[in-house]
Amino acid sequence: TDIEELLLSRIRDVADYPEPGVMFKDITPLLADPAAFTALTDALAEIAANTGATKVVGLEARGFILGAPVAVRAGLGFIPVRKAGKLPGATLGQTYDLEYGSAEIEVHAEDLFADDRILIVDDVLATGGTAEAAIQLIRRAGAEVAGLAILMELGFLGGRARLEPALTGAPLEAL
Ligand code: IMP
Repeated sequence: TDIEELLLSRIRDVADYPEPGVMFKDITPLLADPAAFTALTDALAEIAANTGATKVVGLEARGFILGAPVAVRAGLGFIPVRKAGKLPGATLGQTYDLEYGSAEIEVHAEDLFADDRILIVDDVLATGGTAEAAIQLIRRAGAEVAGLAILMELGFLGGRARLEPALTGAPLEAL
């Protein structure tokens, strides 16, 4: 579609970043283009409305840049899921495995209510490890996952298949 072409044309491939052999998808050209950034925000906000989300969760750091305008456009609140150690209040944490070692993400538990339906927003889905941890975190906080909306899915890494059990039927929308 036209919007897919517009978005794709504004994503830059950076070879060997952050390490040799990795082709990094850089979204900063898209953010710098108001037509593309607005089209992306509108498309994600439509997904938020279609899934009946009550709040948007953005995953640090690019999920903040995309998720916050989506929340405003959709008339919803925004909740940051941060890397461990950054949030000042009482947090719930979720660790997950990386290729080498592990990582942890956290959320302010009191910002999530039992009747919340959460749309998770991020830029790129790679292995799915980050999104899987976010889904587990939101469920443990007592809220429901309405869906996962991302700009770009790197299909060859198998993230969608990995996430299927965790999503339990909630949609994974990749623009
Ligand atoms: P995953 O946990 O392997 O799915 O990696 C997804 C996370 O890493 C997301 O938060 C992305 O922002 C980031 N990420 C992985 N690959 C890329 C990329 O090529 N471009 C931008 N972000 C990426």
